[in-house]
Amino acid sequence: MSKNNRLRYCSFCGRDESQAMLVPGMDGYAHICTDCIMSLDQLLQERFQQDYPEPQKPKKQQAQAQPVIQPTKPKKAQQENAIPKPQEIKKFLDQYVIGQDQAKRVLSVAVYNHYKRLAHNAQMTDVEIEKSNIIMVGPTGTGKTLLAKSIARLLSVPFTIVDATVLTEAGYVGEDVESILSRLLQECDYDAKQAEKGIVFIDEIDKIARKSDNPSITRDVSGEGVQQALLKLLEGTIVNVPPYGGRKHPEQRLIPVNTQNILFICGGAFDGIEKRIAQRLNTRVVGYDTSETTKHIDRNNLLDYISPQDLKSYGLIPEIVGRVPVLCHLEQLDRKALRTILTEPKNALIKQYTRLLQLDGIELKFEDKALDYIVDKAISSKLGARGLRALTEKVMTDIMFDAPSLKQTDLVITYDYAKKQLDNTPEEALA
Ligand code: ADP
Repeated sequence: MSKNNRLRYCSFCGRDESQAMLVPGMDGYAHICTDCIMSLDQLLQERFQQDYPEPQKPKKQQAQAQPVIQPTKPKKAQQENAIPKPQEIKKFLDQYVIGQDQAKRVLSVAVYNHYKRLAHNAQMTDVEIEKSNIIMVGPTGTGKTLLAKSIARLLSVPFTIVDATVLTEAGYVGEDVESILSRLLQECDYDAKQAEKGIVFIDEIDKIARKSDNPSITRDVSGEGVQQALLKLLEGTIVNVPPYGGRKHPEQRLIPVNTQNILFICGGAFDGIEKRIAQRLNTRVVGYDTSETTKHIDRNNLLDYISPQDLKSYGLIPEIVGRVPVLCHLEQLDRKALRTILTEPKNALIKQYTRLLQLDGIELKFEDKALDYIVDKAISSKLGARGLRALTEKVMTDIMFDAPSLKQTDLVITYDYAKKQLDNTPEEALA
């Protein structure tokens, strides 16, 4: 029988041409029936959906290019597109946070890796990338909370701030550590799946440092006890959370939350940690140091040398330190930084007041000298950036009260006016 007279079969399902319509391959021997084409199409579509969880973008390109089977490259590109890259994260942070370049870089990388890890582990490959929680050390009012908040804003994930000082070991007066997760759940309408990808900022982590170097002679319910309780959360565990906080009641419905993928960012001032850094470096915080081995150390910026060891000697238990492997520090803000904070960030204080009065049809301006005076006061009151708000508020209160009732459409805050308002305010009132 000649090749052309042979009965042709589908090379995939085996049906012959009397049962299905066949499409020949290039060689004329192999065939595929239209049913198999459709099944294959469906199979590939499903694979495609798995690989591209957001279906919208690639489809258009796909229609123009080859059908269904795409080279693997776009997949990687798409996944990476979904997570902002470290440089993009830093650029975003630059809009809100002044200075703190080193901390921003470290954070950008850590956050990028965290979300890349989520994408990677979801594909269940053989190497599981471990979570990298973060700890930020720096004086109060230098932008720790602002950094964490800004990151959560960029990623649009549930975010909550908790103060470590209110936490106590389960069963004692105060909040259980589980209350952290109750808050996170509240942030996302009790959607546990969302909460499990969220960010928790634990402020004042230094305040739960162990009180003495000798562990557990007496119970330390607000120090080491809390650290032990926190540890489980940081490591990754499933916690049954009372959705409205408070103590667990037998009749209350609990929501299981897996903390494995929650990113914990801890912050603390760690007052006096410089002494411990100096001790470790074998140098002194003040005075001259002539020893050859320690001469190169910049003793005005000892925080630059901070290491996990210093956190341990400050009183964080080694297990906690091990669970926050990304350590960065924030610098004290200098005059130039404070001045910039007043006017430059996207939601700078001065921009906010200007906008508020604009809504009353008033153009508000500040003399440079007036702004400089506010900064001087912030420095002398040792409140740093945190003080800028209280000070500006004092300068602006009377204006905000009177201006909407005046006929004036332009207002200038002069140096004399700012000075008068601030000099009348006792420093204690600005804290
Ligand atoms: P911390 O958590 O370090 O104590 P915050 O982030 O709460 O300090 O800062 C307090 C306020 O000071 C913030 O609301 C913010 O307006 C301002 N601020 C602090 N640091 C910066 C900074 N580096 N850039 C811009 N604003 C800052």
